[in-house]
Amino acid sequence: MEPLEKECQAHEIMTTIASNLQAVRNAIVASATKAGRHASEITLLAVSKTFAADALREAYHAGQACFAESYVQEALAKIAALQDLPIEWHYIGPIQSNKTRAIAESFSWVHSVDRLKIAERLSEQRPTHLPPLQICLQVNISMEASKSGVAPDEAGALARAIANLPGLKLRGLMAVPAPSDDVTAQRLPFAQLRKLRDQLNQQGLRMDTLSMGMSHDFAAAIAEGATIVRIGTAIFGNRNYGDKQ
Ligand SMILES: *Cc1c(COP(=O)(O)O)cnc(C)c1O
Repeated sequence: MEPLEKECQAHEIMTTIASNLQAVRNAIVASATKAGRHASEITLLAVSKTFAADALREAYHAGQACFAESYVQEALAKIAALQDLPIEWHYIGPIQSNKTRAIAESFSWVHSVDRLKIAERLSEQRPTHLPPLQICLQVNISMEASKSGVAPDEAGALARAIANLPGLKLRGLMAVPAPSDDVTAQRLPFAQLRKLRDQLNQQGLRMDTLSMGMSHDFAAAIAEGATIVRIGTAIFGNRNYGDKQ
């Protein structure tokens, strides 16, 4: 490829990310307004798994500061490549015991905690010079056999145990409901997650975060009180998993 052609292509990709981001921000404002909420209550988390560091850098320069990753090795490489930027890193993927140290050392938030053993390791391994790791419990809200996440009726005990771990700060609940094209159906599991959070708070917990809503259903999640939406495809385009799946 000629250098000029390469440059033009790179520029085109950048423009797409910036304009996608703007469209997502506009849609968040519209959904919030419709729900009688302020868009400032909702954090946009850019889910950048499978995309190269350059794509994240472009999103950062278009005003995006919070990024989420799902694979530890891939994330560590991007965190190193983007060290010059003050990015807030969130981990949203499956957590194996042998990866907890890397997660505890390199991320600000983890949304996918669903077992006490993992939470205890993250707490022990969180470096003391860093603020506590911000935690969301992943809840299997629609009780799908294939899904990770703690069962709703076990979430309270796990949340109370996590709230006592010194290296962690329990912030809220996260869910990935089964996809649906129907907005009414999309809202149901989000409403259930919000109710669960409210019930647990009435029992003495203090969770301010509902991490729910992805590219296809974030409007429904915002209508039901999402405070963090996790959006990948609508910002970066379709993912190519290569050998990851
Ligand atoms: C990949 C992923 C997302 C983003 O999904 P999109 O449909 O691309 O917006 C959000 N949350 C989790 C847990 C993910 O794994």
